[in-house]
Amino acid sequence: MKVLNYKCPFLPEMIYKTDYHMHSSYSDGRSVPDDYIAPAIAAGISEIGFSEHLTLFKDLEDWNMNPVNIPPYIAHLKALQKITKNIKIKIGLEVDFFAGKEKEIATYLDKLPLDYIIGSVHYLGEKTVDVGPEFYEGKSINKLFESYFESINSAIASELFDIIGHCDLIRIYGYKPSADLEPLYRRLARTMKKHNVTFEVNTNGRNRPLADFYPDRRFLHIFREENVPVCVNSDAHMPSRVGQYFDEAYDLLRYIGFTEMAVFEKRVRKMVPF
Ligand SMILES: [Zn+2]
Ligand SMILES: [Zn+2]
Repeated sequence: MKVLNYKCPFLPEMIYKTDYHMHSSYSDGRSVPDDYIAPAIAAGISEIGFSEHLTLFKDLEDWNMNPVNIPPYIAHLKALQKITKNIKIKIGLEVDFFAGKEKEIATYLDKLPLDYIIGSVHYLGEKTVDVGPEFYEGKSINKLFESYFESINSAIASELFDIIGHCDLIRIYGYKPSADLEPLYRRLARTMKKHNVTFEVNTNGRNRPLADFYPDRRFLHIFREENVPVCVNSDAHMPSRVGQYFDEAYDLLRYIGFTEMAVFEKRVRKMVPF
């Protein structure tokens, strides 16, 4: 029998999608992890992963997971893995990077049975860059971008993390520097490649004042040219946002020339074509 390899032009092509950046009520998400499963399956996602905020070396705030809740969090996700069919569930964390604390962070994370770790920079000094637009008032936007990228480069070079979260979060309120940003993105992409770190297209920027993805789409081609592995994440804080804007994000990546994405298991990366 002759088997035809026929692709229906009217049906969207099924591609392997993952969403590794999600927050449940273990940190600042609105729902328990169980509530994210059905929306993820409905969105055509093959693997989801939770990545609760872990912020060491700062006072506990309401957006962070209390570290004492890490064991029950992991136990909860392992139980969910056992009873869930049709979708894989991965266990991750979104960990704040603090320069100078690399050893302590490594010691803390090494003992945890995680599939991946997202490293993020939220703090510049004592405040987080997403605390509100007032953070930016009266400051040099050029300098803020420089310091933010500096911190992200240190986070990458620490090799503590598998994925770097929203690598230009400093754009969140739409403040635009006058300086040429291309060298900052070029250096960032080269550092990622050198230290074998994946970047995410984080679609949640669309829900913030910026109203666009992270990183800046004008510089996505740089990540492609430098051969940096990519994945697409929603940073959902509620079930309805799992996989949000993913079709647009994958189309954008294809347009730029990306052909594969990073998947993780027990902190080992594999590339899957899309
Ligand atoms: Zn974050
Ligand atoms: Zn997040």
